[in-house]
Amino acid sequence: MDYSVKVLRDKCIGAASCVAVASKTFKLDSENKAVVLTSTGDKDEDDAILLAAQSCPTAAIEVYDQAGKKIWPL
Ligand code: SF4
Repeated sequence: MDYSVKVLRDKCIGAASCVAVASKTFKLDSENKAVVLTSTGDKDEDDAILLAAQSCPTAAIEVYDQAGKKIWPL
């Protein structure tokens, strides 16, 4: 994963679209809020990560490129 992601916990409503699209990057915790998985094993493609962020109904996922530039939400 070249992109880095951040979940804005206050905005997350637990809709789980991110988990459906990028299950190796996001999961829901016990409070039904998305958290970012930091596994060093299997990873989602950047495209899937961006799509997951774009699928979030509340724009709770921020995506940054390698240079630290925010690429989502625009
Ligand atoms: S898609 Fe958005 S609201 Fe739904 S679980 Fe993921 S971060 Fe939370």
